[in-house]
Amino acid sequence: MSATAATTTTLERGVFLDGALQPLGAATLTITHPGNGELVGHVTRSSAEDVDRAVRSAHAAFGDWRRRGYADRGAILRAGAEAFAAHIDELVPILVAEQGKTLREARIELRKAAETLEHYAGLAKEVRAAYVHGLDPGVDGRVLRKPLGVVGAIVPWNFPTTLLANKLGPALVCGNTVVAKPADTTPFTTLRVAEILTEAGLPPGVLNVVPGTGPEAGEALVSHPLTRKVAFTGSTATGERIMALAARGVKRVTLELGGSDPMIICDDADVAKAASAASMGRFYNCGQACLAIKRVYVFDSVADQVIEAIAAKAKRLRLGLGTDENAQLGPMHTQRQREIMEEQIARTLERGGEIVAGGGRPDDPALQSGWFHEPTVIVDPPHDSPMAQQEVFGPALPIWRVRDFDEAIRLANESPFGLGSSVWTRSLERAERAAAEIDAGYTWINSPTKVYDELPFGGVGASGLGREHGSEAFDHYTDLKSVVVKR
Ligand code: NAD
Repeated sequence: MSATAATTTTLERGVFLDGALQPLGAATLTITHPGNGELVGHVTRSSAEDVDRAVRSAHAAFGDWRRRGYADRGAILRAGAEAFAAHIDELVPILVAEQGKTLREARIELRKAAETLEHYAGLAKEVRAAYVHGLDPGVDGRVLRKPLGVVGAIVPWNFPTTLLANKLGPALVCGNTVVAKPADTTPFTTLRVAEILTEAGLPPGVLNVVPGTGPEAGEALVSHPLTRKVAFTGSTATGERIMALAARGVKRVTLELGGSDPMIICDDADVAKAASAASMGRFYNCGQACLAIKRVYVFDSVADQVIEAIAAKAKRLRLGLGTDENAQLGPMHTQRQREIMEEQIARTLERGGEIVAGGGRPDDPALQSGWFHEPTVIVDPPHDSPMAQQEVFGPALPIWRVRDFDEAIRLANESPFGLGSSVWTRSLERAERAAAEIDAGYTWINSPTKVYDELPFGGVGASGLGREHGSEAFDHYTDLKSVVVKR
């Protein structure tokens, strides 16, 4: 069965507005399956007018939504999360068809998105501000949290639903309304999720979805005078553009941008576990994750062992269409993404480095109509080459041998990015130094790079600003207001 057949028919979807899916508009985008080029469907290419309608609808819904209690909003979000979880089997083939990821990856993503909504539903009754008794004799102070208004949520194609849920959860709990813009290649799962949440009780207008392109729908959403905040996940270049556009109107922004996460493997590490974490951390979702192991620095004395283990794992990964239950690595998302990575590999190898696994496109005749690329491992390329300095958004991993911990930390920080990082060592001192000295939003110590809803997540430097996850996310979806009361 083809992936598109799994969605039963070719999909045709319009804007999701005021609680209902609109008919396909005059201007459309064509969505194809990254694994075999088959048609998945057509979606409205939202214009500035479509975005205007969506933002006005969200603005109209804001008045009632913000006045509800936290418990009420939490209960609605919980019902939405439960409905989402109950529809995962229906959503999986849609996500696989438009994104290309494997069935297993799609199930994991969708479960995680539902869990994140549920997590924020649970936090709804815990949102606190502050009270200061006795500022002056007979005078007390209160600090209120006020929702911002309409939030524009702009999301990329690599994890369309989890990255939306990270924004929806805290935004809705705090009383904001949301206009979401999915990536122009992955609109269908998001549109269906919006329907499911609405069927479960989310009032019309509280979540609208405008499928479309970045320059057209995305910029219209950021620039709309009624948009009060933009929660963006995507590339650093687009993040900079959005920040500049948001300056007009002094809008709040949260930017979750690119990454090039270093992993340091010390001579006292559990080498087998570290190699597994490196392989999973790099090749999961075909390497198309912001948080992914994109650079490995391994102590000389264990380097051969580590390189051999990671290369062996890369060679064993089974490439295949997402719908193939045995596939462990799907296609890259677009032809362009594959070309960008191939160019990075070629430009790096011109300067040095040795391929120890993969290196090119697979020969398998069954994989020729998709954007597949072999999992690739390259050892000791120059430190100023593209694979060291740029974000590699695909299944290719550079590994460097290092003399000692100081060199590893120095190289780990020689990147414009600072999203995740990890260290494998049995030394408490090294572990603590890595946590303190690596410039990044996250450091995992002897742990695979799993993201927890409980902990704030975000980058430093070119990886962005602001935080998602954790109760800290509430700070990014509310304004604080001080109120002074004379008794
Ligand atoms: P992208 O920046 O090209 O697109 C992301 C979203 O922004 C899409 O919806 C796109 O349509 C929209 N967009 C593009 N141009 C726009 C503009 N001028 N105005 C408004 N919106 C615009 O990114 P991508 O290539 O789709 O995604 C991959 C990137 O996302 C990688 O760099 C990856 O590291 C990053 N990412 C970051 C995180 C994180 O949490 N830090 C998570 C996942 C992905």
